[in-house]
Amino acid sequence: MPDRIETESRKLLGKLRTALAEDSAGQERLDRIVGLIAHSMRAEVCSIYLFRDSETLELCATEGLQAASVHQTRLRLGEGLVGRTAKFRRVINTADAPNEKGFRYMPETGEERYSSFCGVPIQRLGSTLGVLVVQSLAAREYSADEVYALEVVAMVLAEMTELGAFVGEGAALMPLHQQPRMFRGSIAQEGATEGTVYLHEPRVVITNPISDDPEGEETRLSDAIDELRASIDGMLTSTAQESSEQTTVLEIYRELANSRSWKRRMVADIENGLSAEAAVEKEQSLARARLGRSGNAYMRERVNDLDDLSNRLLRILTGQGTDTGEMPKDAVLVARNIGPGELLEYGKTLKAIVLEEGSVGSHATIVARAWAIPLVLNAKRITAEALNGNTILVDGDQGIVHLRPDDTVKSAFREKIAMQAAAQERYASIRDLPATTKCGTTLALHMNAGLMADLPSLDGSGAEGVGLFRTELQFLVRNKMPKRTELSNLYTRVISSAAGKRVAFRTLDIGSDKVLPYMKPNDEPNPAMGWRAIRVGLDKPGVLRMQLQALIRAANGGPLTVMFPFIAQLEEFRAAKSEIDKAMARERKLGHPLPKTLEVGAMIETPSIAFAPDAFFEEVDFVSIGGNDLKQFFFAADRENERVRRRYDTLNPAFLSFLEKIIERCDATNTPVSFCGEDAGRPVEALCFAAIGLRTLSMRPASVGPVKHVLRRVDLNDVRAIIATARADGAPSVRRAVADWLAYQV
Ligand code: PEP
Ligand code: MG
Repeated sequence: MPDRIETESRKLLGKLRTALAEDSAGQERLDRIVGLIAHSMRAEVCSIYLFRDSETLELCATEGLQAASVHQTRLRLGEGLVGRTAKFRRVINTADAPNEKGFRYMPETGEERYSSFCGVPIQRLGSTLGVLVVQSLAAREYSADEVYALEVVAMVLAEMTELGAFVGEGAALMPLHQQPRMFRGSIAQEGATEGTVYLHEPRVVITNPISDDPEGEETRLSDAIDELRASIDGMLTSTAQESSEQTTVLEIYRELANSRSWKRRMVADIENGLSAEAAVEKEQSLARARLGRSGNAYMRERVNDLDDLSNRLLRILTGQGTDTGEMPKDAVLVARNIGPGELLEYGKTLKAIVLEEGSVGSHATIVARAWAIPLVLNAKRITAEALNGNTILVDGDQGIVHLRPDDTVKSAFREKIAMQAAAQERYASIRDLPATTKCGTTLALHMNAGLMADLPSLDGSGAEGVGLFRTELQFLVRNKMPKRTELSNLYTRVISSAAGKRVAFRTLDIGSDKVLPYMKPNDEPNPAMGWRAIRVGLDKPGVLRMQLQALIRAANGGPLTVMFPFIAQLEEFRAAKSEIDKAMARERKLGHPLPKTLEVGAMIETPSIAFAPDAFFEEVDFVSIGGNDLKQFFFAADRENERVRRRYDTLNPAFLSFLEKIIERCDATNTPVSFCGEDAGRPVEALCFAAIGLRTLSMRPASVGPVKHVLRRVDLNDVRAIIATARADGAPSVRRAVADWLAYQV
């Protein structure tokens, strides 16, 4: 970095700091800042554009353009060079702006006279807050050093915008974290709730982005990096004996933490006038923008590593965020993504969950659904916008989230909550009545469970039993493999809480998205179709055997129901069944009581097993259709991939025909069949399943009431007629026809 720019940049930051420290209104500050930058960069124009809403940039201050255009000129994201700078989060530096791709002339600004343009995104940790622009009459490209100086300034502006330094009149001048915001995400668990934001990873706030003591800041940075390295070394020593994979990850971290170029860049930022924490954040933002654009998945992963390290460093420097603060009573968890284990640690008391990523088929989602906690996924940028303590309304029915809502939105929302409470009362009133349709068909409604915490719902929901007990959730909540006695104690508690109702224990279904922290992860190209569930159980039978033994012991001479996940061919079922036979023989030998009755079933989760030889249907005691997996393999559409997940409807006639085929084969062999995928809990789907012949459905507890309510009001002959007509019409899904008809019945 040449000396001149170093001093220029530092001098400019020094002046900026004075301007920011002055007790003036937001607009005045902005006006002073653009003046200072234009002067120091020897540019005729300097302007600051800030986002008015997520799609619109507003000119908020200018030196050089028409003063009347301030707060008047607006651009959409991607529009003109300013909009493109924001959209692509990269610097646009050109000597010939009018001929640059995307140029759009704004007559009200009088900018046509300026040839050169340099726009730098004002960004903070992956969110773009606005654009800083300089323009000159002379046709010149700004030098790399000048661009660098602008980036440093933009970084400071980002921090100050966040802190509300430019608050004043006009929505764009409101501090970012005070404006109401609405997010449209995807529905994962219905329900409407009002609560208080609780961030899974709270943001670090930097209050001192500028410093005129580079030596002091460098020392702070070096000390913090030393502390960071020492903490990684500490983690390395404590995990060395435990798992070699964790050690490998930490070694990569250590390498990054020791990276000289990373430190060199941060030191250069400090030399240019930034504080140590601002330097860390500037490099973090730049790396995010640069690596995030990379087409290389490995490089994109490195962004996460670097992010994590930078966050740790920021926490050391600021002392913030190490203690996440007490969780409010009405906490709505806001996170980028969360694993099932982490979610289980938070517990059932959360009022709602909002994620930026996530997918409906993931196990974190299943946990939230089991707990009936409203969950919205894919709420883009919510972690950048939400602050701990903000009021938040989560509408899980529509996938909409209101952050810091105004009073009108709040009162409309409260009405909705009241209506839902009334519906709950209706469901409670039919809790002890059978799910009998008007035509006299009675369905058995069971519930899905996986945790001890779910069992109390057995009574509350009116479910007849547990149609699917996902045993892996118990493994996911621990940090080491449970022992056999622990497992059998746990299963004993499950069986006794069920108080005589049937519980279908599904043996461990790990792999795919369910990765146990203490088991060797397999780097598989496609884990959903990889080494998972019964495949692991049969190849490495130790855990399966332990589990079967624990189940037999827990049954303690009473009835026992076991089912195997992901059976793709008859031989797998036979092999799994023989593990039970062996376990029974062992237990008998040890003198332990054997279950009074033993039902051994299989999940139908792969299309292949629907076409298995008759012997399969004859040998199983029952089958349960795992629609979540079955549907993903039927349509070849990943249940975890939001892009394709909704592309094919469960009520697509092809899938219904496939289910009919399974039911037909079960009927022919007198094999009891149930459906335990998430779709069983959706009223329209449940109706169609009943219409095509399913008589047992297993769903999350909160769905039992709504499904029973609907079933009790319909005649399945009517539903069958509607399905037949929709099919004959060639409808891509029978949903619309059934849902429209249903609207008049309930
Ligand atoms: C299914 O696939 O439908 C199922 C019930 O199993 P899981 O969701 O646990 O994979
Ligand atoms: Mg499954």
